[in-house]
Amino acid sequence: MLILGSHVSYNNQNQLVGCLKEALNYGANAFMFYTGAPQNTIRGEISDTLRDEALKQMQLADIDVINVICHAPYIINLANNIDPDKYAFAISFLRSEIERCLRLKIKRIVLHPGSATKLDRKIAIDNIVYALNAVLKPDDDIVILLETMAGKGTEIGSSMAEIAYIIENINLKDKVGVCLDTCHLNDSGVDISCFDEYLDQFDMTIGIQKIGCVHVNDSKNILASHKDRHENIGYGTIGFDNLLRVIYNPRLADVPKILETPYIDREYPPYRQEIEMIRKKSFNSNLYDDIISYYRDK
Ligand code: FE
Ligand code: FE
Ligand code: ZN
Repeated sequence: MLILGSHVSYNNQNQLVGCLKEALNYGANAFMFYTGAPQNTIRGEISDTLRDEALKQMQLADIDVINVICHAPYIINLANNIDPDKYAFAISFLRSEIERCLRLKIKRIVLHPGSATKLDRKIAIDNIVYALNAVLKPDDDIVILLETMAGKGTEIGSSMAEIAYIIENINLKDKVGVCLDTCHLNDSGVDISCFDEYLDQFDMTIGIQKIGCVHVNDSKNILASHKDRHENIGYGTIGFDNLLRVIYNPRLADVPKILETPYIDREYPPYRQEIEMIRKKSFNSNLYDDIISYYRDK
């Protein structure tokens, strides 16, 4: 069975129970959440009661917790140690994020590796390695998935070689993996119409078993644009058929596919209708109107 879901919102009142409810509304059997706002590092207490309730409901809904993904906030930058206090904060924040996930029984955290900013790229990458080695502990049942990036600005992780270098230099290699993002790959210069060749190369360089999540997004921009602007499935430069070949790729059958496509009119989540379209394997040329009328009629 295809493992498919989307990013969902998280609030401190309902925590994973709220996330699960939203995911089920979309017809998803996987989901991804931030433990607070993605753009800040303010985090509330994890409730064990809500966690147990969510795990119970997940079992009833046949959702495996391995397919529930946490995304670390994208403002922590492990690559930049120009300001030692900020760097120390980023490391301690990531450690606290791991601890929140352990408490929630979540096993996979997606992380943007970081941006070099004014630093030399090599030094920046070594900073990421240092930070990851500092936060990972042998007994933690957790894997940090480094996301493939578009290469916007000075982003690290826009090439397979950079991701491979980071993983090679991690002491606890079983605690790191990769999250492929189709929009980011396209924008970094990987032609998704040749995705199988990319996977072949990935397998030789890093190992396909390291892929722990796929972010499925179309792109507003052309190949190698280094932009990172997501588009709804089938409405961007990658296109529906190419994305389907990623989603249904037999080599990634066990890997959760997560949509991070934009809301329609900044208001209506597209995920229910996109999931439906993907499961039917048939492009909906009326997607926007269907979504708008679905939510207006509610
Ligand atoms: Fe991301
Ligand atoms: Fe992503
Ligand atoms: Zn992105």
